[in-house]
Amino acid sequence: MSPVTRLYTPLLKNKLHKLPALSSFSTTTPNYNTTDQQTNRPSPPPIQVSITESAGRGVFATRSIGAGDLIHTAKPLITHPSISLLSDVCYFCLKRLHSGGGSIQVNSQYQTIHFCSEDCIQQSNGFYEVEKQADWSAYDEHCRVLGLKYPHLVKRLACMVISGAAPAESLDILQPAGLIPEMILEMENEFGLLKSTLTKAGFKDAQMEFLTKQWYIGVLARIRINAFRIELVGGSYEDLLLSAAASVDAESAVGNAVYILPSFYNHDCDPNSHIIWIENVNARLKALRDIEAGEELRICYIDASMDHGARQNLLFEGFGFRCKCPRCLSGD
Ligand SMILES: [Zn+2]
Ligand SMILES: [Zn+2]
Repeated sequence: MSPVTRLYTPLLKNKLHKLPALSSFSTTTPNYNTTDQQTNRPSPPPIQVSITESAGRGVFATRSIGAGDLIHTAKPLITHPSISLLSDVCYFCLKRLHSGGGSIQVNSQYQTIHFCSEDCIQQSNGFYEVEKQADWSAYDEHCRVLGLKYPHLVKRLACMVISGAAPAESLDILQPAGLIPEMILEMENEFGLLKSTLTKAGFKDAQMEFLTKQWYIGVLARIRINAFRIELVGGSYEDLLLSAAASVDAESAVGNAVYILPSFYNHDCDPNSHIIWIENVNARLKALRDIEAGEELRICYIDASMDHGARQNLLFEGFGFRCKCPRCLSGD
């Protein structure tokens, strides 16, 4: 995400400077009302990514958008289920699996995982063909003991890069978190575990040329402030019961995921847009109120019901910025 006040300031003097075409990001366009009459193809979403004067990159409306409208949808670049829910959600799309059947179990030498559909199995080939060849127990145990979730996303990206499914630079466009030396030390340990796990599985240095300490730290630093915690809303009655049970177990998130375009939305404690997940990790960006053409679209990174001080602390610790949104400036 690219919060309101960043640790860097944009170099550009122009108020709005267009970034590369949005079409290069993995975004799909809602097709309910925006069909181009002449080509019969969905038209691009009503947004553009621009550099703002004070807040780094931001997402702006290119036309007016009505309250409740779907602005666009977005597919993730990397996903990973919560470790405590490995047998309850799809290993790829994080959809909840039902006890009634329908899920597909996949066994490898080292683990058993579950998918919701053949389609998700196919889409997982990009990382799973590599992942299943290695014994991840030491890496997983390290993450479990320290309560870490993001290294699982780095592992997944590393496997995607080795299999050729994603470039090593996939996340370079995202803003990295600022790191303190203790964090870097911990990341170096994890990097060592990841590398040795893959080396033991027989992957050669030539396949892992990208996998340096620097790469690992750069990817994790980006994931730290750009990963979304995925909580599904809606779905079936059974889903509601499951999520009620899950919140008792203190785990209401089905997993984490990294997106490109949704990460460009700046934060606001009284946002005009929000991001939601209905049945799986495919995100929907929706307008919370009427938005005018040219207005910046902002989402809330945290629980907006917290008081001013709690929000400021959480945003500074989690995202490295002091919020200066209108609500915070009013002291609310
Ligand atoms: Zn799935
Ligand atoms: Zn604020």
